Amino acid sequence: MKRIVSAIMGRVGRWGSLCFWLVPFVLLLLPLSALSKEDPKHFVRARQEMVRSQLVARGIHDQATLRAMETVPRHRFVPDRYRASAYRDGPLPIGYGQTISQPYMVAFMTEIIGPHPGQRVLEIGTGSGYQAAILAATGAQVFTIEIIPELAKQAQATLEQQGYLHIQTKTGDGYHGWPEQAPFDAIVVTAAAEFIPPPLIQQLKDGGRMVIPVGSPFFAQTLMLVEKRGAAITTRSLFPVRFVPFRRSR
Ligand code: SAH
Repeated sequence: MKRIVSAIMGRVGRWGSLCFWLVPFVLLLLPLSALSKEDPKHFVRARQEMVRSQLVARGIHDQATLRAMETVPRHRFVPDRYRASAYRDGPLPIGYGQTISQPYMVAFMTEIIGPHPGQRVLEIGTGSGYQAAILAATGAQVFTIEIIPELAKQAQATLEQQGYLHIQTKTGDGYHGWPEQAPFDAIVVTAAAEFIPPPLIQQLKDGGRMVIPVGSPFFAQTLMLVEKRGAAITTRSLFPVRFVPFRRSR
């Protein structure tokens, strides 16, 4: 009996002294974590600053686009080790040799399709899921296709975690578009193709717009705006860009 009591007391004693050291340690860490880069307030400020200095300053003016860029937590779409850099003025690696586009590029491609609630938008190249989330935050009904299964799975999980439950995701070669869901008011392609895939033009509604980087993977690429009016297709070169290559499944 004595042995049992002393064994229990020994445990309580050890736990007791552990708690004695642990409590002040945890209390000390709390204010530190509040000041750290993980603080949501820090990210809110970083987003406001990004909108002001990278977007508004460069001419992005569509209110729905700006509101989406200010709301969607970009840091949740980048790998953990890049969180602190999430609001920097540039692209970031997301694994598998792919990148999340620069915030300005995401905003530009959103603004140019004239985002509005209910619009059906197809994105080719889900990547991190960030561009899809921005499009959804403008009220669009988003369909997005990713060719790398691991990225598609990861993006789907992130989008679900962030509450974007209405975005429809698919793994596959976006060259073929998504015939079952066509036609679309707009198509946003986030990988550089050597030519505009004909199925995508076909799946655009009359009056629809597509924005797509066109050019060879390692040389000059141009961001193009494609507009469909009846049987007429017009294309306009916007400015030089650099995107990861549009791949084809074999
Ligand atoms: N919109 C993404 C950017 C990702 S980079 C974001 O916001 O993070 C471009 C993505 O296009 C890559 O993930 C790449 O794997 C994908 N991709 C390339 N070719 C593709 C194709 N034919 N179909 C679908 N996705 C493709």
